[in-house]
Amino acid sequence: MTKAEHQARPTPRAGIMDIEAYVPGKSTAPAGVKLFKLSSNENPLGPSPKAIEAARAVAGRLDIYPDGSARRLREAIGEVHGLNPANIVCSNGSDEILGLLTQIYLSPGDEAIFTEHAFMVYKIYVQAAGAKPVVVKEINERADVDAMLAAVTSRTKIVFLANPNNPTGTYLPFDEVRRLHAGLPANVLLILDAAYAEYVRRNDYEAGIELVGSSENVVMTRTFSKIGLGGARLGWMYGPLAIVDAVNRVRGPFNVNATAIEAGIASIRDREHIARSVAHNEQWLAWLTEEFTRLGLRVTPSVGNFLLVHFSEAERHSAAKADDYLTARGYILRRVAGYGFPNALRMTVGTEEANRGVAAALSEFLKSQNNA
Ligand SMILES: *Cc1c(COP(=O)(O)O)cnc(C)c1O
Repeated sequence: MTKAEHQARPTPRAGIMDIEAYVPGKSTAPAGVKLFKLSSNENPLGPSPKAIEAARAVAGRLDIYPDGSARRLREAIGEVHGLNPANIVCSNGSDEILGLLTQIYLSPGDEAIFTEHAFMVYKIYVQAAGAKPVVVKEINERADVDAMLAAVTSRTKIVFLANPNNPTGTYLPFDEVRRLHAGLPANVLLILDAAYAEYVRRNDYEAGIELVGSSENVVMTRTFSKIGLGGARLGWMYGPLAIVDAVNRVRGPFNVNATAIEAGIASIRDREHIARSVAHNEQWLAWLTEEFTRLGLRVTPSVGNFLLVHFSEAERHSAAKADDYLTARGYILRRVAGYGFPNALRMTVGTEEANRGVAAALSEFLKSQNNA
């Protein structure tokens, strides 16, 4: 017998055990304390009431397989965004699409580029594909197009851009995205992850629809998670037909479940609920930024539904202390040391009650630190 045959148990492919598993936001508060979950960028206004109704309505038919191509959902998305449904693939969260694209376009030894504070899931999928993550520096907590282009080699197959990025909330204006695309070889896939596109209120922002429509090597990924359906697990990709074709060959035949399909259709057609959610976010993102700044905390300028709050450099552990202080009072924020921010917390814009509560608690916390 060879050595391999003597191995005591199944062994993962090279590189798999180097992956650091994704750590989701916390979701528990101490006993007896009201919980405000501000750790996963969910919609404080909840799901669309119409999506709730649609999910209930499908419950009695859960014995029936869903439509494997999610045709009616793709048509609803196409209608709302003015896209051809043939260029859309739906998925079990947009994470699934990111995983499929890495599986399809990366071979062992290939390289994939993303920036230093980019969404952590990219690295996991790149490693899972046996490829090499190439991490490039940002400038002022924002993706740097020149650095990204400088990192391209003959082995580069994918470039990821979260726009806006999580956990920074910063974004690249469309002319910068266009410049990035123009500098990439035609065989490199540019993935524009527009998970927070609904929330961006900037004239110079474009989620990716234009660039996908005019090129062969760009896809845009989107999600329902941040606009009210995180628990349904529903995302989608808009891309050129050749890429859509490849993804459709590899994805699970029924990757989107029946509840997600019906809730998704109702949700995307409920433009009022989306408008209300976006207006709420716009108001409270500005309010929170102002309050935290007034408290002397630096806030990275965000266009998403969350903000990154930095604690004083002098006190190395104050973000962790602030997190403990807030958690004890039911305010669950996200630690982001794994994203290269050991002294910051990410907070999702919450309900008015949650937002005012966090601002008041942080004010108290800082006072207690100064008096200590
Ligand atoms: C939340 C998030 C996603 C994806 O979420 P899904 O729930 O899998 O759709 C993708 N990219 C970024 C940057 C995110 O913050």
